[in-house]
Amino acid sequence: MSDPKVYFGHDEVPAEEKTARVKTVFDTVANRYDLMNDIMSFGLHRVLKRIVVETTALRIGQRVLDVAGGTGDISRLLRRTVGTSGLVVNLDINVSMLSEGRNRDIDAGFLDIHHVVADGETLPFPDHYFHAITIGFGLRNIANRERALGEFQRVLQPGGRLVILDFSKPTNRALGMSFELFKRTWPLVGHFIAGSAQPYQYLVESIDTHPNQAVLSLMLTDNGFTEVHCDNLLGGIVALHWGTA
Ligand code: SAM
Repeated sequence: MSDPKVYFGHDEVPAEEKTARVKTVFDTVANRYDLMNDIMSFGLHRVLKRIVVETTALRIGQRVLDVAGGTGDISRLLRRTVGTSGLVVNLDINVSMLSEGRNRDIDAGFLDIHHVVADGETLPFPDHYFHAITIGFGLRNIANRERALGEFQRVLQPGGRLVILDFSKPTNRALGMSFELFKRTWPLVGHFIAGSAQPYQYLVESIDTHPNQAVLSLMLTDNGFTEVHCDNLLGGIVALHWGTA
């Protein structure tokens, strides 16, 4: 049976095609990814990522997986939290993004963060291995989110926490309209700074088709997570979801 259709931006495509096209997007932007993040969010993504790590409630010595970790901002913060006796894995489907991350890890003096090239839908880890999983601006890019959530549930210890950060739906109409106009500038910025508008057009469209706060909360519950919470950040432009395995 072929995979169900999913959205790549506004286009409905087979799941495997989305995975391949997302890979191309991040190959194109990898070397300018961090700079573009700072420009498009005015540096705010750094604050949001700190909130993710605080929400994990991790302690020294624990094991944590950052899925779709890319250039590794979150995994470096996690490494500071769990210390040298802990274990941090930065997993991503894209080698170019992980290579950029690896360079930044070395610059930061963190030589013990593990990098794993894998699809978030099929995690190469045993059951109940991690104390927490984080995924920042990543779930939106995964073709079969239900399958990924099932995998997160499998590799988390019972009681372990999943923390998801992603774009969501602004709660205020005026803010929603302003954000709508603002994000339309991103492809142009991408064209001038990263040399390509298309990946940022995909980014804009992927935000439009991502499940809203209520739907994502329900997806977590349907996949066995309990104590599911959702906090709107920046007025719901971004939402933080977390739940317990
Ligand atoms: N978490 C990082 C951050 O917040 O800066 C990177 C986020 S970036 C917007 C999305 C990342 O998801 C990319 O590095 C991309 O390669 C990765 N990705 C996309 N599909 C994936 C999949 N199926 N499995 C694992 N990673 C995936």
